[in-house]
Amino acid sequence: MSDPEHSPEPQPSSPSRTLDYITALDERFSGPGTILVVDDSATARRNVIDALATQGHHTYEAEHGRRALDLLGRHRNIELVISDLEMPLLDGLGLIKALAASPEFSRLPVIMVSSVSEMERVIQCLEAGATDFIRKPFHSAHLLVRVRNTLTLTRTLRSLSDLAHRDPLTGVFNLRVFVEMLQRDLAASGRRSQPLAVIMADLDHFKGVNDTYGHQVGDEVLIQFARRAGDQMRAGDLLARYGGEEFAISAPDTDLDGALQLAERVRAAMDQPVSTSKGMVHTTVSLGVAVRDPDGDETASQLIERADQALYRAKEAGRNRVVASDPSAR
Ligand code: GH3
Ligand code: MG
Ligand code: MG
Ligand code: MG
Repeated sequence: MSDPEHSPEPQPSSPSRTLDYITALDERFSGPGTILVVDDSATARRNVIDALATQGHHTYEAEHGRRALDLLGRHRNIELVISDLEMPLLDGLGLIKALAASPEFSRLPVIMVSSVSEMERVIQCLEAGATDFIRKPFHSAHLLVRVRNTLTLTRTLRSLSDLAHRDPLTGVFNLRVFVEMLQRDLAASGRRSQPLAVIMADLDHFKGVNDTYGHQVGDEVLIQFARRAGDQMRAGDLLARYGGEEFAISAPDTDLDGALQLAERVRAAMDQPVSTSKGMVHTTVSLGVAVRDPDGDETASQLIERADQALYRAKEAGRNRVVASDPSAR
């Protein structure tokens, strides 16, 4: 007989509590946004901006796709683009394609607002990555509800994606992403006959930081470590929280020399006191480095294991240092 009290099935909350929860989420995600309005007609821009203003949205405007890209580069808080189709220099379709191909903006939603009516062109925009297509002349209420739905959906997806992929404390990627990306990086570096470095970093005597200053200050030090380590890295490198006070870096196209320099920069960056809510705290870090040569065939876990052994030796040798993995350990 199954015991309902100890059933492994998740127990649903009461319907009314579930609704409370959903309402709270909706409120969090449905507030006014920052929106870029792109149209070569000043009157058309004005129509859209006036409608958006009635719901408290903050807006930027651009007269063509080129200017839109320029503004997006300078205002990172833009959450949504509303764009015309036919414009000089860079038209709406060109803008959608440019955004879809860019690492920073590929997830940015774009609502097309255009008088173009051929279904073929509407489909072309949607296939290129537009979120929605609204015919001109539009009804304000129609535009506004589409805007709100799009903002809510994008913010919800973003938040879920962060929960799944990032460490909530430091904001860096989590272990799952690290392993997945390392596997991809290894495959890619193998194809290109390039080396790849893995660096494992573990804060020294970190239990002492918690014991002396409290767990909150320990958390602040972890956040600072992630920031300082991130500042030392190149664009293609990836920093992740491996667990507890342990972090990992994947550095593609990096040989042993380069990896030792990177690890040393991280070590030195941490060998400076960190400002916390309880004053300056000095914590050091030990690092282990392992590099897979261009003709190597080690797997992600073998490489991590080797970096971890080097880290262990850095600890044994007195901490606050970088140790390279012994190549004969392969
Ligand atoms: P070692 O130099 O040998 O690495 O010593 P250590 O004290 O850093 O290592 P140990 O493994 O004994 O302790 C790790 C400590 O890190 C204990 C644990 O409470 C702390 N820690 C792990 N995760 C967190 C966290 O998220 N926040 C805080 N504040 N502390 C954490
Ligand atoms: Mg136009
Ligand atoms: Mg430690
Ligand atoms: Mg540890």
